Amino acid sequence: MQCGHCQTDYHPATQTKELGRDAAFAWRVAFEKCPRCQKFNIRLESGDPHPQDGNVLLNVRSSRVIHPKGGISRKPAPSEAPKGLAEDYNQACLVLNDSPMASAALGRRCLQIILREHAKVKPQDLSKEIDEALASKQLPTYIANDIDAIRNIGNFAAHPIKSTNSGEIVDVEDGEAEWTLDTLVQMFDHFFVGPAEAKKKREALNAKLADAKKPPLKKP
Ligand SMILES: [Zn+2]
Repeated sequence: MQCGHCQTDYHPATQTKELGRDAAFAWRVAFEKCPRCQKFNIRLESGDPHPQDGNVLLNVRSSRVIHPKGGISRKPAPSEAPKGLAEDYNQACLVLNDSPMASAALGRRCLQIILREHAKVKPQDLSKEIDEALASKQLPTYIANDIDAIRNIGNFAAHPIKSTNSGEIVDVEDGEAEWTLDTLVQMFDHFFVGPAEAKKKREALNAKLADAKKPPLKKP
């Protein structure tokens, strides 16, 4: 388990406090204190009550992180990413825990913008844009596989609106929002961070060459 404050992996000694049951479920708070940063990670759990003691939760049906806010905090978009994309991505991370639907919608919109503006696919619906990006073979295999999976995990065939209106807030499948964000991290690296680092390296080398009174590297 990963601490939502300091991102350390820790072996949790989970403690629970039963809240009792309401008309729908039994409820409890489950929490661990991170051994490294000494902060609590707290979840609110609900589910089926114990048949012998209805105030005790037996089968957890739903669990959501209530502290720290946003669950496992994700790193913000890299500074090399264009501003609008970075803002949408950061917002998608912030709302992930409270609304996976809103998070996935923002994530799909980011994906579409990157495909159109940086992978140079023709604007059409997102599913076809993914097709075109895959067919062009210009993406590294790991990213191609990841964006193909967005369509499969998100069950785009059954939810065509995800494709035709990518920013629309519609039902999500389990793990869809996280997967979309994880894929965007890879795409930020590929399209923005990697090229910026390569450019910095070339400039540093060219500066050295200039000091040595040698001609600069050929343009890539
Ligand atoms: Zn911690």
